[in-house]
Amino acid sequence: MSTPHVRVAIVGSGFSGLGMAIRLSERGDSAPQDYVVFEKADEVGGTWRDNRYPGCACDVPSRLYSFSFRQNPRWSRDFATAGEIWQYLIDCADHYRVRDHIEFGADLTSAAYDETTRRWSLRLADGREWTADSLVMGVGALHRPVVPDIEGIDTFAGPTLHTAIWPDDADLAGKRVAVIGTGASAVQLVPELAQEASHLSVFQRTPAWILPKHDKVWGARRQQTFARFPALQRLVRWRTYLQLESRVLLFARIPRGMVLVEGIARRHLKASVKNPEVRARLTPTYTIGCKRILLSNEYWPTFDREDVDLVTDPIVRIEPDAVVTGDGTRHEVDALVLGTGFSLSGSYDRMRITGSGGRELAEVWSGGMHTNLGITVAGFPELYVLLGPNTALGHNSVVLMIEFATDYVLQCLDRARAGARVTTAAAQDGFTSEMASRSKHTVWTSGCQSWYLDRFGNNTSVWPGSTISYWLRTRRVRAADFEPVAAHLESAALEDRVPAPTS
Ligand code: NAP
Repeated sequence: MSTPHVRVAIVGSGFSGLGMAIRLSERGDSAPQDYVVFEKADEVGGTWRDNRYPGCACDVPSRLYSFSFRQNPRWSRDFATAGEIWQYLIDCADHYRVRDHIEFGADLTSAAYDETTRRWSLRLADGREWTADSLVMGVGALHRPVVPDIEGIDTFAGPTLHTAIWPDDADLAGKRVAVIGTGASAVQLVPELAQEASHLSVFQRTPAWILPKHDKVWGARRQQTFARFPALQRLVRWRTYLQLESRVLLFARIPRGMVLVEGIARRHLKASVKNPEVRARLTPTYTIGCKRILLSNEYWPTFDREDVDLVTDPIVRIEPDAVVTGDGTRHEVDALVLGTGFSLSGSYDRMRITGSGGRELAEVWSGGMHTNLGITVAGFPELYVLLGPNTALGHNSVVLMIEFATDYVLQCLDRARAGARVTTAAAQDGFTSEMASRSKHTVWTSGCQSWYLDRFGNNTSVWPGSTISYWLRTRRVRAADFEPVAAHLESAALEDRVPAPTS
């Protein structure tokens, strides 16, 4: 049987991959040979399918954290739960009839660019093979859970759960539970666990800045009004967008102004926690916004409970039945919950992506995840990344960024009909230096450790500007940022033949 070929192969079916598939279908690229989506699970949904820990919800209002082309008048509240967002994505897949294009249980393990055929050769975990003219990665950034490197963690005798891979049958009722990590996931989980566990010990390495969450329930009347008058919902969406967008000024231009936001968080903390000693330990010392600002009305008050401990002594090791801290205390627990985040490069490290000249993406990115516009990578023809490096946001909805990048990729795919192309090294280098210099005076580089910064201390995660500026940059593809693959291969061959000058 011959290897099936498609013009575009998409990997993943979360907001990025699904959005790409819908846009292709909607513009008429809906024949089987136009595109395929590889989804390793058995349903669409990405992170909103995978993250099932109790309390999981989005901290961006759903009217904005949803596709612009598919507004949902039936959100149950301002900040929808993970389950509701997952259902929204399932509904989108059904509504736009893209399921026929999705291969479920299809785990891409390797993608290699074939310089002779000018095609990507794709291999799935089950041995199936495909070829594609272009490859679009919609694998997300927050996918691969990080298990902290703590001595003895693998000797723990009870259940060890990670927020990102929460089993449906997890039962922590009546157990003594340790939660390690106090980031976005833990802050949502801890108040829920406190209700179930007999005792909760929260191990905090760095406290988080938290703002009040203004989360209104959407009554039937609001839902009916939005369903009847979609323009009204658009108006409200625009208002929310502008409110969130205005914050970028402080994040990216005048981080010293974040002290105003800090005041709100400090007042929120004071109103939430009675015990001044605990309150002091919950107060961060870095500028608010340097790490992701969290929203919760329940997290801080949890620490006033008798059965919840805040542990701030560093963890030195884990024993089969206890977490041991630097002060020598053995915190005896029955279960371990890790809210320790994700490996950003993990989404890509799990597959082998080989560009021209046999270069592997994991190796190329080992010195930093460099791209042009967070979308294309020099040396990797017809490879496109959605929600790629430097396209995360600290102040607004990433779905906007995904949609801008999708529009850009669609233009690239049109141009590829005339021949495969690749981003030039000059375009990528220019973008990399721009990101470094624009990040210098933002809140994200103001002196804290966060997943926004790579191991070299560079911001390769967040777009250091407004979403409008990203839209302006991606609205039209700059022809000069690309070269035909033929020319790229010729110059690479020439470089190989010309001996390096000796001094
Ligand atoms: P995270 O923000 O990276 O937090 C990880 C936590 O684990 C931090 O508190 C970190 O402490 C701690 N930690 C890591 N290694 C540790 C160790 N060896 N010992 C002790 N503590 C350790 O991860 P996350 O909470 O999963 O969130 C990641 C991102 O996912 C968020 O920033 C957000 O973008 C996204 N998210 C979004 C939502 C939403 O509502 N939209 C919900 C959940 C997650 P340090 O701070 O000291 O490093």
